Amino acid sequence: MINNPLVKKSLSQIIEKEHEDNLKKRFKEYYPGEETPEGIDHLIRALGLPAEDIQFIANDIKETVEKTIIPIIKALRDGIETDEEIANKTGIKLNIVRKILYKLYDLKIANYKRSKDPETQWFTYSWKFEEAELINKINEECEGELSELREQLANEENNMFFICPQGHVRYNFDEASDEEFLCVCGEELEFQDNSDIIKQINERIELIESDLNSFNETINK
Ligand SMILES: [Zn+2]
Repeated sequence: MINNPLVKKSLSQIIEKEHEDNLKKRFKEYYPGEETPEGIDHLIRALGLPAEDIQFIANDIKETVEKTIIPIIKALRDGIETDEEIANKTGIKLNIVRKILYKLYDLKIANYKRSKDPETQWFTYSWKFEEAELINKINEECEGELSELREQLANEENNMFFICPQGHVRYNFDEASDEEFLCVCGEELEFQDNSDIIKQINERIELIESDLNSFNETINK
């Protein structure tokens, strides 16, 4: 179950969030006073990041999930409870193990119990992986994405679209008539055949549905 692509996708958000925060900081430095975009993809576009930077971010996300987060979760599933034991078992640095455990805790995917050692009076934290929470989270994320896609699909199917040949705007019929079928650049708007867009949305929906079905089948086994 832990190697399922939907698990990796869901866990990616932990690291994506870090990159997103960094990019937001960068955006605020470059464009003070402007509204900061939300979401890593929008930030990358707004900042006009070079291809190497985009590749670096994508690799970092993939590597952190595969080489850090998943091994830590596997150790928890094997019944290893303390951060130090996890660090020893996985070879991941202790401070990173701690950081990831708290991020998993924030998402309710991991939980801990604190207890005092009667001899040393030190606190120990025993960590536990909350598998059911991760399963719920993945189902919720997929359902959310599916309902967004179904809305997009209905919008594409129930409207006609008009675009500027230079790519400046894309309007539905009402918006296009308000602008008298002219773009801000002065070009006449053209009718756009959106059957490819509809096809792509349908393919995306089918893919998520089938991924989610196979994910839920693996956990029920
Ligand atoms: Zn135009």
